[in-house]
Amino acid sequence: MLNNFLDTRMNLTENDKKHIWTINKGYEGEVRSDIWLLNLTDNWLVLHDLLLEFNQSIFQIDTLIIACEKIYLLDVKNFEGDYAVKDDKWYNPSGELQKNPLHQLERCEILLKKLLNKLGYHFTIEAYLIFINPEFHLYIPSTESSIIFPTQLNRFLKKLNTRPVKLNNKHFHLAEQLASLHKDESPYPRLPPYTFEKIKKGITCYNCKSFLADKTLKCKNCGYVEDVDAAILRSIKEFTLLFPDRKITTDSIHDWCSIIKSKKTIRRILAKNLELIRHSRSSYYRLKK
Ligand SMILES: [Zn+2]
Repeated sequence: MLNNFLDTRMNLTENDKKHIWTINKGYEGEVRSDIWLLNLTDNWLVLHDLLLEFNQSIFQIDTLIIACEKIYLLDVKNFEGDYAVKDDKWYNPSGELQKNPLHQLERCEILLKKLLNKLGYHFTIEAYLIFINPEFHLYIPSTESSIIFPTQLNRFLKKLNTRPVKLNNKHFHLAEQLASLHKDESPYPRLPPYTFEKIKKGITCYNCKSFLADKTLKCKNCGYVEDVDAAILRSIKEFTLLFPDRKITTDSIHDWCSIIKSKKTIRRILAKNLELIRHSRSSYYRLKK
């Protein structure tokens, strides 16, 4: 569903479309390159979205690169906004505690190592947490060498490119083995990177998904007319799905819906249908459970 929203709201490039197509189609054990990995020189063996199991523990690998005697385990995150780390705990831009992605990565590395040993491989694993969204910032008390920030991405790729990649049958055999061990049901969809600034704002038609032209909310394409409250609530739900870290405020929804010029209308609908969370500096709304 998220992918379809993105497809409507962004001018996706052919690469993004290919990417989305592979997500929709599901994993096929294929070797493909990812958007941000396109700058890698040829001949890397890259596997995506592997869902594996060791001793009844399920773990998900976002991106795995097999390179000679090394395996790179990459967890690619599209976080947006200001995150903070305090006492090893991660907080999102709304100040809510969330899962520590470094712990998840570490768990993944340990389980992968055990699985590889069981299969008879003894590669060195290097694990990295990669943030690709330029709108991301992390307040972290100490440096963490396994985190790659958007501004370091190019240097990281350069570093990878300087290593010679001489792959042989052993590497291809491993890739095939891992792909065959992959479990079908992946709980997390992969999305192309997007930002609030770049995505197309507006309200889409409930019926045909084309963008509505003005506040009458009458679709020029199919003639469908939706009640303003219903249309805005539907847009808010879409907003929270695409941007779970952004706060729902009169301003943010006014921006998001764009064709509703009256902030008063937005404020009325928010106040009537959502829960107001009071904060000394800035209050915001939350969808009712
Ligand atoms: Zn329509």
